[in-house]
Amino acid sequence: MKIPIRLKNCGCGGESLVWFMLEDTDIRYKCAHCSKEQDLGIQNLRIAIKVILRAQYELFESKDYSLSIVLSAMAFECDLNRLYKKWKMLEAMREKKIFLSSEHFDDALRRMNRIFDKFKSTADLMTDHGVTGFVNNSPDLQRLISDKFVCVPLERVKKDLKKAFEENLFFPRNNIIHAAKQYDEKAAKCAREFALLGMTILEKMDDAKIANSRRGGTSKNL
Ligand SMILES: [Zn+2]
Repeated sequence: MKIPIRLKNCGCGGESLVWFMLEDTDIRYKCAHCSKEQDLGIQNLRIAIKVILRAQYELFESKDYSLSIVLSAMAFECDLNRLYKKWKMLEAMREKKIFLSSEHFDDALRRMNRIFDKFKSTADLMTDHGVTGFVNNSPDLQRLISDKFVCVPLERVKKDLKKAFEENLFFPRNNIIHAAKQYDEKAAKCAREFALLGMTILEKMDDAKIANSRRGGTSKNL
């Protein structure tokens, strides 16, 4: 998959749209304005971020809204898979003193037919309070939702997070894949926001779990 990134950091003031491949860890690019060559600086970009970059390109530049929705859902699912495997592998090392490869957990992930089940199972590895409880106990997250997300009404998210994710991200994705349904710009913007919200919730759960593990805590975290 080709991934676009807009760069303004070469120093000449110009902006370059650079394409790289999903599997690339780093490449050099030439500034379109001054021809200076430099590293792209994508070493630390996880797959989910690369995929959401393409989803944003389809939404804001290519205007292929249905493709943008499919890619937004894919980006969120990339992070779900990554964190599910990460914490399952660490759990096996801590409790059974064995190393299991990430492929060991592919079957378990495939058996979770609904993405929200995968969200719930992944969250349960990092928090004792579930996805909704974690959001309700996190003022920072709630402030972020109020300030940054236009399509995400905070009260609805707090009341029924599962329904909000299904209606705005998972169901549209399924309708495109299974029934070739067309979606408009507004729907694609909402899908992108929910993917980013899901990725942010996961990132904060991961941070909290890491902090708790460093403190030597036995409970999962907040
Ligand atoms: Zn330049």
